[in-house]
Amino acid sequence: MEPLSETAIRKSFINATRSEVAAMNLPIGFENINWEILDQLGWRDHKMPQRAYLVLPLDGKPVGVLLRAPELSAPKNRRVLCALCQDVFSEEEVFLYVARRAGQRGRDGNTVGTLIHADFTCSVNVRADVAPTPIHPDPDAVTAERIQGLRGRTELFVRNILAK
Ligand SMILES: [Zn+2]
Repeated sequence: MEPLSETAIRKSFINATRSEVAAMNLPIGFENINWEILDQLGWRDHKMPQRAYLVLPLDGKPVGVLLRAPELSAPKNRRVLCALCQDVFSEEEVFLYVARRAGQRGRDGNTVGTLIHADFTCSVNVRADVAPTPIHPDPDAVTAERIQGLRGRTELFVRNILAK
């Protein structure tokens, strides 16, 4: 994805209040992010562990969503499939993240939940090495398909949050 400035990220949120955006902390190491290998930028707020953020390009501009993480004491869903990258090899934890819908529906308490890797490793997961098999002789094609899948599913998730 294209590199984003802090200002662009703060302006991108579709389901957060002004004070929530003001309180947001950027990911640690923000200055050193390698944007080229990211389809989306996701992170947990290191000062507010209940909050997480996901920012991605949608229709040519960055769109950010505020997500609520589960209670930290919640049971771990280690063997649950991440709905965005659908990676079956990663050992990373998967959380049920909940997003308030955009606009009035969100203010009325309407939310959308989805299973996502707790630390948003999805862009890395879909770029993991693929061993060629007789069915998929071209690993690069498999990786390209996985990247498209991740982008498509994340877009659908965000459009669902935006839906009126
Ligand atoms: Zn994932």
